[in-house]
Amino acid sequence: MQLLKKKSLSVLAAVLMSVSLAAVTNADQDFSSMQMQGVKRVDIKVDVDAAAKRLSKAVQFPTISNQDRADFDVKAFEGYHTFLEQAYPNVHKTLKREKLGKPRPYSLLYTWEGKDPSLPPAVFMAHQDVVPIAEESRDQWQNEPFSGAIADGYIWGRGVLDDKNQIHAILEAAEMKIKEGFQPARTLYFVFGHDEEVGGPEGVKHVVDVLEQRGLKEIAFVIDESAPLIPNLFPGIEENSALIGIAQKGYMSLELSVNGEGGHSSQPPEHSNIGILAEAITKLENAQFPYKINKAVRHQYRFMGPELPKEKQAMYKAVAYGDDGKTTELEQKFIEEMAEDQVTRAMLHTTIAVTMFNAGIKDNVLPPSATAVVNFRIAPEDSKESVIAHVKKAIDDDRVSIKDISASTPPTNVADPHGDGYKLLEKTIRQTWGNDLIVSPFFVIGGSDSKHFQARSFAPNVYTITAIQLESTKEFAGFHGVNERILVDEYARSIAFFYQLMNNLEEL
Ligand SMILES: [Zn+2]
Repeated sequence: MQLLKKKSLSVLAAVLMSVSLAAVTNADQDFSSMQMQGVKRVDIKVDVDAAAKRLSKAVQFPTISNQDRADFDVKAFEGYHTFLEQAYPNVHKTLKREKLGKPRPYSLLYTWEGKDPSLPPAVFMAHQDVVPIAEESRDQWQNEPFSGAIADGYIWGRGVLDDKNQIHAILEAAEMKIKEGFQPARTLYFVFGHDEEVGGPEGVKHVVDVLEQRGLKEIAFVIDESAPLIPNLFPGIEENSALIGIAQKGYMSLELSVNGEGGHSSQPPEHSNIGILAEAITKLENAQFPYKINKAVRHQYRFMGPELPKEKQAMYKAVAYGDDGKTTELEQKFIEEMAEDQVTRAMLHTTIAVTMFNAGIKDNVLPPSATAVVNFRIAPEDSKESVIAHVKKAIDDDRVSIKDISASTPPTNVADPHGDGYKLLEKTIRQTWGNDLIVSPFFVIGGSDSKHFQARSFAPNVYTITAIQLESTKEFAGFHGVNERILVDEYARSIAFFYQLMNNLEEL
């Protein structure tokens, strides 16, 4: 009796609790659309033919970042810098330009002094360097990759989409504003790195160090490259979309090595150095980092969820409002769906990518050493230290030594998608491209030079987007691939976007 009574009471309590929980769910957990309403389009006149010619000329400087840094093309960068001075005379008269970088000073820091020194500055970023052309793909290019051809309504060439378009759209906008007599209220910095494609250890990392040493305490807003505007970019979103990166993963490469006895292959030991290392790699790949829904992913689904198919809304809502301490059934379902695809899976954990494996020089010689390199993209819940600890535990073999060989960076802060900076950016996007598109924050599984800002406490609000409209996902082939190109007319809108962003920053 006593027991039964207790039980029925607890059942009642549970029912009451679930009722009140449901009430809380309905009242507090709003899952209506987050899309900004009522923004009017702004028409900005751009002399796009002249601007396209300048971008075409920029592409003709082969500012390539090779993995082998000894291959650095000083002439290409110096030529490009001189060209910028000639192409944007007002910018170079009005803004201070410094060449920074350690050891190579080819990154550019422009300072446009604001009228009100009490306002925290804003930063516009892009990178000068481009990836090389794979020789075996050269004959697939419709126009020579460094010719900067303007043909069929497009500007063609390596870097025209990644990322010289962004440097030049920023400079075109600044040149227009200066001619109109504009001076910004807050100081604006333009930061154009020279080694983004190899992680930016010489360039932007150093620029951020310099700004910090000069006493910069707070940066209000940073914009840098990421995904372009494009329909069908994210699974489930067929409409045109503008995704704004709000957080980036960390980066680290570890070298694993086994150093032991070499010797003659006629009398081998039971386990060779290669065998020991191969086993270590297998153990590591079998010890994947656990899946976790991080804060940036929760933000992403609060904005994206209401725009995705109805039947999955309950799941996205559970993700958006989930609690880091426990994983609900719906969140588990989400994790399983995301894990099915390589791209979305990378959003859920620190990834392990074995990228290099070296040993041996001759068929009858046992190599005295074997080395491998593993690249990690570190999720927000991990750190460099926790990843190294995980690797050591997984391998559990003293014969394998572990060394960080990268200019590693930690996972970044998460920018606020409910803050004024995000709202200002969404408004500028809608003023430029209209309202027939979905704007959402997202978690970036790669990274760009802005991670060097965003990983530090004084610049948490970094937003990343490549401000150019592409026609379809087919155009992605140009990123690091063949036939990189942008539409001339869309380039005009990129310039208008940065022009309008400079206006809107006055109100931040
Ligand atoms: Zn890029």
